[in-house]
Amino acid sequence: MTCSANEIWMKRCFELARRGAGAVSPNPLVGAVLVHGNRVIAEGWHERWGGPHAEVNCFRAVAPSDEKFVPESVLYCNLEPCSHHGKTPPCAELVAKKGVKKVVIANKDPNPLVSGRGIERIRNAGIQVEAGVLADEGLFLNRYFFTGITEKRPYIILKWAQSSDGFLGRPGERTAVSGQAALRLAHRWRSESDAILVGAVTAATDNPSLDTRFWFGKNPLRVLLDGGGSVPLATRLLSDDRETLVFGPERSGVADCKRFTGTNTHTPVQEILDVLYSENKWILYVEGGAGVLQQFIRSGYWDEIRILESTIILGGGVKAPPLPEGAASLSEFMVGPDQVKIFFRQSVYDQGYSNVSIS
Ligand SMILES: [Zn+2]
Repeated sequence: MTCSANEIWMKRCFELARRGAGAVSPNPLVGAVLVHGNRVIAEGWHERWGGPHAEVNCFRAVAPSDEKFVPESVLYCNLEPCSHHGKTPPCAELVAKKGVKKVVIANKDPNPLVSGRGIERIRNAGIQVEAGVLADEGLFLNRYFFTGITEKRPYIILKWAQSSDGFLGRPGERTAVSGQAALRLAHRWRSESDAILVGAVTAATDNPSLDTRFWFGKNPLRVLLDGGGSVPLATRLLSDDRETLVFGPERSGVADCKRFTGTNTHTPVQEILDVLYSENKWILYVEGGAGVLQQFIRSGYWDEIRILESTIILGGGVKAPPLPEGAASLSEFMVGPDQVKIFFRQSVYDQGYSNVSIS
């Protein structure tokens, strides 16, 4: 397949944007490339939440000797430059002031505060704007962000590891299913999310720390569903020095870093999502166990399913959840001896995401 120049530079924007994964949410992943003729004169990306936007970092990276080329250059950016005063001044103003020749973007910003106004501001400065280049890939890259803006809830990734005969583990005991490479991948996925959720049975049986020790990056907020208040206080989630948000009754004898919602029944998924969204947790990673995964599937609240399937045969135990109706396969690949299978909700898939790949 041959790519147009627009596509080549837009793909570069996506690559740069991805470097912010795990550090910018609930902001979108954005990369920017400034091209003069056939030469890149600067690049930038949104590196962390609250930090400068991609366009700002890109213009800052222009060498003094290249400044004179800026008015003849094309700015590529996967998302429409912002038009509102947030943590930083609007990028559309900056682009207009720099007076580039043309701006090429993949997606309009769905944020009601921007939504076309960034493009308008730039056009009003007499700069040509071309939108929609590799729009599907752009949507896919920022599927968390677009879901958060349009559906006002976190993007939900269900993840589980299963044996080759379809079991999560043996009941009542911690069962190692995945290999080391798969474990590292799972920790990378954790580091790219904002919150990791498990149920009471998993907390009590596996006593997980839900951290990212096999990868670098941040540790997301840990969320425990314990409506019965039955998880032993000695488990890591309730006894270590890291924050845990518990959907369950208040417990005494725990550190201040543990928060309880005070509800003493099972919390509906919708309510969990509302609380997390209000705390700016826009990427939710649900790790189990079987009951909790089923609860999300039954409620219809899931966007993506990631399965790590090992070669181990357990011959019995806790069955992995059946794939929900409407789960479309996006990709399959090997990591060490384990197979990774990624599925999407069909409606998400229909938006053109089938053209893109994940790793
Ligand atoms: Zn901006």
